[in-house]
Amino acid sequence: MRKTLVIGCGGVASVAIQKCCQNSDVFEDICIASRTKSKCDALKEKLAGTTATKISTAHVDANDIDQLIALINKYQPQVVLNLALPYQDLTIMDACLATHTHYVDTANYEPEDTAKFEYKWQWAYNDKYKNAGITALLGSGFDPGVTGVYAAYALKHFFDEINYIDILDCNAGDNGYAFATNFNPEINIREVSANGCYWENGRWVETKPMEIKKTYDFPEIGEKDIYLLHHEELESLAQNIPRIKRIRFFMTFSQSYLTHLKCLENVGMTSIEPIIYEGKEIVPLQFLQAVLPDPASLGPLTKGKTNIGCIFGGKKDGKDKNIYIYNTCDHQQCYREVDSQAVAYTCGVPAMIGAMMLLTGTWFKPGVHNIENFDPDPFMDALNKWGLPWQIDYSPKLVD
Ligand code: NDP
Repeated sequence: MRKTLVIGCGGVASVAIQKCCQNSDVFEDICIASRTKSKCDALKEKLAGTTATKISTAHVDANDIDQLIALINKYQPQVVLNLALPYQDLTIMDACLATHTHYVDTANYEPEDTAKFEYKWQWAYNDKYKNAGITALLGSGFDPGVTGVYAAYALKHFFDEINYIDILDCNAGDNGYAFATNFNPEINIREVSANGCYWENGRWVETKPMEIKKTYDFPEIGEKDIYLLHHEELESLAQNIPRIKRIRFFMTFSQSYLTHLKCLENVGMTSIEPIIYEGKEIVPLQFLQAVLPDPASLGPLTKGKTNIGCIFGGKKDGKDKNIYIYNTCDHQQCYREVDSQAVAYTCGVPAMIGAMMLLTGTWFKPGVHNIENFDPDPFMDALNKWGLPWQIDYSPKLVD
């Protein structure tokens, strides 16, 4: 019996779990474990009678290694799919190591008290995972995730060398709110209020938040403003794509979102420094999260499409060449299928596929690896099959 333990039961996990249940030949048995067990039970109840996958639920505090080890020992999964928050990555990796269980996540570790994400903490487990004969697959969402698979696929099938990558993340969806985030608000705001950064000619170039603004004409969407951000896959792709000269990440934001964000920053509401309020310590950003709409509630409200992909520039047979590999996803179509908007969908589907790659042994490489280090072909086939079909534009321009 193939068993998968899913940790977390929020927006992304809900999609990934529903996709696992559509794929019950592979996901024969899953356990949904999270901090609030009632959410796991509600999802199990919703799926009852719709799937051949056997589902159980459990409570776990993923900050507590002993609780995690006890749960893994009791349930005996082959793979742990971590869809909690980036703060829990290391405790979950420790528990997988102690129990010799494969590990998959969608976001790299970030210490809760410092808004800084980096792979160094997770890469440091490489030798231990290798010696234990288990695989950690890092970043199996869309970005990071599918963007890395696109890079490996482009290198394998279209280029002799890739020199430039522009990753584009466009959400042209409208949820009717003046300000709401499409995934966990705390993680999202930490990401977009940080300095921007990109890799060029062997070094990191840092920018002020939202300092670099461009426009891009997206297939099926049209022209949108895009802003340069730092994003975690830049770090791994800069190392793993040979002869890369520049790699950047751009995301769309509406003017309303940016105006609200600036205002919230100016009044201190995005700070992660604790303050004392009425005798109790609170973190302003966590308080802000509590008053913002829950991303999981945006599903029925969001209309429009996402377009996420990578423009690659490089050489084939001595000639310059550019291609754009991308997916477009429709918010309302996602809602009809899994009661969720496209941002959770575009992360939840590749999370399921990453777990499938390890569970079936399609990918087996003891150690700690980013997704571009594996053969991209089976993952690209699975994207077409499981709801995120990709397309290729053979004559795009890099962002200028
Ligand atoms: P949510 O906040 O909706 O869900 C997080 C879940 O984790 C909740 O169920 C929460 O429990 C649970 N959780 C939090 N802390 C603990 C803990 N200590 N122990 C056990 N469970 C815990 O977040 P999202 O679903 O939006 O995001 C999930 C992850 O996906 C994040 O790491 C995010 O960065 C990543 N992501 C990656 C993307 C990609 O493309 N690579 C895109 C979008 C998101 P509770 O219900 O009790 O709060």
